[in-house]
Amino acid sequence: MQRTCGQCDAAFEITSDDLAFFERVSPVFAGKKELLPPPTLCADCRTRQRIIWRPELHLHYRKSDKSGTQILSMYPQDAPCKVYSPEEWWSDDWDPFHYGQAFDSERSFFDQFRELLRNTPLTSASVSKTGNINSDYVNSASYLKNCHLLAGANYDEDCLYGNFVNHCKDCIDCSFVDHCELSYECVDCAKCYGVRFCRQCSNCSNSAFLFGCRNCRDCFGSVNLADKSYVFLNEQLTKEEYEKRLAALGLHSRERVKEAKAFFLKHRLRYPHRHMLGEMNENVTGNGILRSKNVENSFDVSELEDCSNCIWFHQAKNCMDCYAWGFTADECYQCLEVGDHSSRTHLSILIYHGIDLLYCNNCRNCEHCFGCVSLRSAKYCILNKQYTKEEYETLVPLIIEHMRQTKEWGEFFPFSVCPISYNESISQDYFPLGEEQARALGARWTAQSTEQGAPTPLPDSIRDCDERLTEQTLTCTTTGKSYKITPQEFAFYKRQNIPVPDTCFLARHRERFHLRNPRRLWERPCMKCAKSMQTTYAPNRPEIVYCEECYQKEVY
Ligand SMILES: [Zn+2]
Ligand SMILES: [Zn+2]
Repeated sequence: MQRTCGQCDAAFEITSDDLAFFERVSPVFAGKKELLPPPTLCADCRTRQRIIWRPELHLHYRKSDKSGTQILSMYPQDAPCKVYSPEEWWSDDWDPFHYGQAFDSERSFFDQFRELLRNTPLTSASVSKTGNINSDYVNSASYLKNCHLLAGANYDEDCLYGNFVNHCKDCIDCSFVDHCELSYECVDCAKCYGVRFCRQCSNCSNSAFLFGCRNCRDCFGSVNLADKSYVFLNEQLTKEEYEKRLAALGLHSRERVKEAKAFFLKHRLRYPHRHMLGEMNENVTGNGILRSKNVENSFDVSELEDCSNCIWFHQAKNCMDCYAWGFTADECYQCLEVGDHSSRTHLSILIYHGIDLLYCNNCRNCEHCFGCVSLRSAKYCILNKQYTKEEYETLVPLIIEHMRQTKEWGEFFPFSVCPISYNESISQDYFPLGEEQARALGARWTAQSTEQGAPTPLPDSIRDCDERLTEQTLTCTTTGKSYKITPQEFAFYKRQNIPVPDTCFLARHRERFHLRNPRRLWERPCMKCAKSMQTTYAPNRPEIVYCEECYQKEVY
């Protein structure tokens, strides 16, 4: 069935698989199924409406609404919600049921939910109960030690400034890296050691400016290598010649690094690119997919089965429209951060171990709840009020019927419910809008400070920098915002002979963001065999793009 998106007017398809999915995952109350209707928005508009709830690295200093102490939070001081530090939130000296509301059939559900969300304390950042060690400036992150400014990160030690950094040690300015160590400015890399400015590489070490390489060491500026060493700009050299050429580049200089970056961006275009990143998959479309089966339009995911429109989602089955996490999730629909053995949880946000939840936010270890905020280990609750199982199973179908009348049933929380501004959420990264457009959707918008300092003159070479630099406040050459180099960071640059960055972490983060392809698929022919393929490389891009078969033949 063909539909027109209620937000962007794009045509989109509701397939028979989608209908079967809704039949399968729809909630049941006292033996009666309340069918979830097919979406009224296209997949992109649904993602945009969901990810406005996720600010990742947009963090703010503010006061805790419990203790008044200064905390770091994804909700700024003026956000319309109450915020507790994770320790305060987990303590027993406050009661989320205190904010409970009886459902009012004269008002819309989202209006009542908005009120509950404004009154009930939220956790300042998304971190697990066990928290992090010496790593406070992080979000959507757990099991970290000595880390700073990471989001979407787990099991890291001594890592700074990155997103989607997992199982890593001593990495700075990396995005989408896994099991890496001593790496710098890398994107989409796994199991690498001592590499810098590398993309889409695995099992490489002591190398720089590599793209699409595996099992390489001591290589520079090369594309699509496997099992090589001492290759320089895709040319095999002797060890002595390689070392001579590398030393001549002088990559301790910021200007030389910038030249090398610009050169490598062009050099890469001479070689074929894989139409998608993925390993050990069966019947999948999207990008960055590992060990998955029957997965459609999904990005940066692993071990999924029968899922569609999922992003950064892992170990899940029968899920649709989920952004972030898993480990595990089953039969979940339209969620933002759902996981830790969750199932049949729909249209919800920040759910750790949720079973049969609908329209919930920030709940942990809950079952059978509807429209609840910040509950822990609760069952049969509606708008933070406790009911018996029988009352719950009678009342929820009545609320759903009311929501059918108000056209709310099956819709995700409208933009106007979210306390986070559009431009401080990752919606702005993936679906950038101007203030007027964002406000027209009902979203909040935060005026950005227009501070524009003069860039700080920095020595070009790391060799000419000393530790006093860490005491200075520097001004970014791109954004004009101030930033600092921490002593931990400075020691890394000095040890690795890397020039000190002249841009702030957000500018560096954006630069890496733009190195990755959009999370969108185009149908186009393989440039070798003309077979049709789905790829994140838009047809007008300059890369040579091959299907998996042609790429493998050419490269390995
Ligand atoms: Zn749309
Ligand atoms: Zn081909």
